Amino acid sequence: MIAKTIGKGKSLRIKFENNLQFAKQLDRSDKLREFRSKFFIPTFEGKSAIYFSGHSLGLQPRQVGSFVNQEIKDWARLGVDGHAHAQRPWLYYHKYSKKALAEIVGAKPTEVVAMNQLTINLHLMMVSFFRPTRERYKILTEAGAFSSDQYAFESQINFNGLDPKNTLIELQPRGDEQTLRIEDILKAISEHGDELALVIFGGVQYYTGQFFDIRRITKAAHAAGAVAGFDLAHAIGNVDLQLHRDNVDFAVWCSYKYLNSGPGGIGGVFIHEKHFRRKGLQRFAGWWGHDENERFKMKKGFRPMPNVDGWQVSNVPILQAASHLASLELFQKAGIKALRQKSILLTGYLEHLLKAIDKDEIVFKILTPSNPRERGCQLSLAIRRQGRRIFASLTSKGIVADWREPNVIRLAPVPMYNTFEEVFKFSQIFKAVIKDTI
Ligand SMILES: *Cc1c(COP(=O)(O)O)cnc(C)c1O
Repeated sequence: MIAKTIGKGKSLRIKFENNLQFAKQLDRSDKLREFRSKFFIPTFEGKSAIYFSGHSLGLQPRQVGSFVNQEIKDWARLGVDGHAHAQRPWLYYHKYSKKALAEIVGAKPTEVVAMNQLTINLHLMMVSFFRPTRERYKILTEAGAFSSDQYAFESQINFNGLDPKNTLIELQPRGDEQTLRIEDILKAISEHGDELALVIFGGVQYYTGQFFDIRRITKAAHAAGAVAGFDLAHAIGNVDLQLHRDNVDFAVWCSYKYLNSGPGGIGGVFIHEKHFRRKGLQRFAGWWGHDENERFKMKKGFRPMPNVDGWQVSNVPILQAASHLASLELFQKAGIKALRQKSILLTGYLEHLLKAIDKDEIVFKILTPSNPRERGCQLSLAIRRQGRRIFASLTSKGIVADWREPNVIRLAPVPMYNTFEEVFKFSQIFKAVIKDTI
């Protein structure tokens, strides 16, 4: 019965039960359950830890070692000839991840490329797509964006000779609300319409876990005459995206969170194909973006590849790109749609159990929207009292979560490797910790 419900995607209507047997039954009917065994799960006192920190660093796929080792062996065996003769020739390495990334973000392979890291990519995209004029120069974004993004915005504004104080518009939620309403975002975009150069939002907000409506924000930005960009750090591999269809201009991401590609993993960008042949677009160029048929002729005069590859600057960091490939292979096998379907159920179950612990929100409040369409797998809990002690106690019991000042615990049950049983066990531990602490 449960399997059927999940299979038909009617998971939202499931009636959750508060017991271990029910959780185990959900695991048994989970079509993706085999994927957990493809990861190393950190241990705590000899048992598997409950790892809910995939929002910060995804776990290591077991096959990463063999992918990375292949490159290390080819380097030892071939030296420079590995560029052409490695098992996966290094010269073309940026091409190997395109198909998987395109599926994950809903794009054409020509529109996505793995390169650099997130904040660098954000700068490169802003160089091309934040082109302020005298009338149209403002950036509109969510308040409380990730620090690195804020620094990028501030420095890009300064770089253009403008003042962040009257250039950056940061939207706050209403009064005592925690997350932004889509109608307020759309209204702000149209109100500031004539002055806006760029509308840029997180895909999923790192702190609250809110999944913004990319399609409607993009549409409104375009209607106002502005460019629409997204930082998908917490969205990629977490929610289903349709960047091409939604007509997004550009997006950037990292691969070490839900994409499980390892610490400092390679980042990526999406650029809509409508920009490929635009004349006069500025960019910071390097040889890897140059026409690949002439790359080694070392001639003067930059001629970019006529697709997203034209924004590459440097050659590919092969070891990071190898672990990326290892992980992307699992995404292709599991399928982002199936992952998302499980995720809605898994996070829905966590929410259900949390609410049963503290119905009247005396100890904590869930900041993340309750509508599954407005969130990914993460739930952010604002703890009203004794937050640090509660968090420390959870940690001492083998739960790997994350603490954000001033009082937030972020929990991410990840559909690729977390189980319903873990969600249930977490809720039992959390309940006991609250009882002992407060
Ligand atoms: C994780 C994260 C980053 C990290 O930036 P790096 O350049 O990868 O170090 C930046 N922005 C957001 C929104 C993030 O969540």
